[in-house]
Amino acid sequence: MRHVPPALPCWQASGPLDGTGHRLYAGSPPDRAAEGTTALPETAKPIERLATALAPHFGDRLTANSVVREQHSHGEGWRSPDATLQPELVIFAETTNEVARVLRECSTRGIAVTAFGGGTSLEGQTTPLRGGVSLDLSRMTRVIEMRPEDMTCRVEAGVTRQALNHDLRDMGLFFAVDPGGEATIGGMCATRASGTGAVRYGTIAENVSGLTVVTVDGRVLRTGGSVRKSSTGYDLTHLFIGSEGTLGIITEIQLRLHGIPESVVGATCQFETLSDAIDTAVMVMQSGLPVGRMEFLDEVQMDACIRYSKLDGLRALPSLFFEFHGTPTATREQAETVRAIVDDNRGFDFRWSASEAERLALWKARHAAYFAGTAYRPGWSCMTTDAIVPISRLTELMTGAKADIAASGLVAPILGHVGDGNFHTLILYPPEPGAYERAVALDHQIIARALALGGSASGEHGIGMAKQMFMTREHDANALDVMRAIKAALDPANLLNPGKLLPPAD
Ligand SMILES: Cc1cc2nc3c(=O)[nH]c(=O)nc-3n(C[C@H](O)[C@H](O)[C@H](O)COP(=O)(O)OP(=O)(O)OC[C@H]3O[C@@H](n4cnc5c(N)ncnc54)[C@H](O)[C@@H]3O)c2cc1C
Repeated sequence: MRHVPPALPCWQASGPLDGTGHRLYAGSPPDRAAEGTTALPETAKPIERLATALAPHFGDRLTANSVVREQHSHGEGWRSPDATLQPELVIFAETTNEVARVLRECSTRGIAVTAFGGGTSLEGQTTPLRGGVSLDLSRMTRVIEMRPEDMTCRVEAGVTRQALNHDLRDMGLFFAVDPGGEATIGGMCATRASGTGAVRYGTIAENVSGLTVVTVDGRVLRTGGSVRKSSTGYDLTHLFIGSEGTLGIITEIQLRLHGIPESVVGATCQFETLSDAIDTAVMVMQSGLPVGRMEFLDEVQMDACIRYSKLDGLRALPSLFFEFHGTPTATREQAETVRAIVDDNRGFDFRWSASEAERLALWKARHAAYFAGTAYRPGWSCMTTDAIVPISRLTELMTGAKADIAASGLVAPILGHVGDGNFHTLILYPPEPGAYERAVALDHQIIARALALGGSASGEHGIGMAKQMFMTREHDANALDVMRAIKAALDPANLLNPGKLLPPAD
């Protein structure tokens, strides 16, 4: 994952920007302006005035350093071909009040604000299309309240799931949503993330019961609460979940926690064909077994993982990885039931183990699958798809996707949270003319197939810039009108992550 170095003082690197020789604040000595010692000239830009107003408070947490700006210009995965799309300022907030202050100051000056968490999103969500401020929440890392007896806690937006789970371990609890990267919980809310545990514990939407949100004009509001359910008023919590920073900035999250199961068993099995593997996954779901995790990797993804993570004893064949949670008796029974289903579908080498070390190695390899995929063809680029269909249509979709990949001539490992009907294709394309266009065409073909089968263009990665064209295909005109009305009501001047999620109106 990208490493963001400590911010440099505001104007320390205010010389040439991104190698073009242009200064950000031509005409005014930025270091003196930032210190507030010199009155700004009449011609000063709004962003200069903002920096002048905020620098005394934020000090070196407000920066125009070109390296930091570049780091805040993209996430993982899809990148805009326009490398000049960068924030003009990066501000590292540490409290809700600071977020409110930044938003108030930006609002009065008409400056765009794009929230930034871990920067692991995959659809171009963090690229600031109108420059302005990248508001980095990754330093908001306090666990505000821990209530183990209620199995809930309240955290700041910059806490990562890894850090939270480290804190929870001694209490016998865990937070179940696990996207592969070092995502922040605020970012996970903003993208409506899920991961390998969603099949049993739900997505972030089911694991959040309340939020603190700052609106564009700097108002702070609390939604939901710590109770397990409530039927009072509009569900504002879930309005902000999945809104990709376009409706408000999330600063605190009330989370649901789960008890660490007494016994956790990991298992793997392999198949000669993709359809046998997927049929197995569908039958496991239909049997009502409460599997903790169930992940599919096709033969290409297995080849990549075996090379990258040195997985012993597994072959480059379509495979399922399982995890069973419960009492020792229950997990053993679940494993045996799944073994029978695997046998019925011509699967083989069903191996299960309660050894924590073996299980962790397996899931570490699964979580590194994206990096294994990108390393599979050195020098090539990677585009991820995120299609989802009702589980009964999954075999049809994946078989079609395989045919599309073969016809494209590209290399594209497939992996997926198949218990949810969700899978990703890592489309790898070489650095040669026309390859990017072929990758885009393949991505669109797979999503078109998913939509035709009653699915969705994204199960968990969101829309950002890369998927906007599918919004009009997936949602009817009236639904899009309501979404636009909500955006206009909460952000009338279109300052919060402008140009994302909603496609332009005709
Ligand atoms: C290796 C790898 C594996 C992945 N696996 C999965 C997976 O299994 N499941 C899955 O769902 N995703 C997965 N992802 C994608 C990514 O981890 C998720 O989209 C994650 O939720 C992004 O969180 P982040 O903190 O990095 O957000 P960022 O990338 O920083 O931001 C994402 C969006 O949220 C907005 N935002 C960020 N913080 C806030 C906030 N506090 N308030 C309001 N808006 C905010 C940003 O403006 C942006 O629009 C994976 C990514 C990688 C690199």
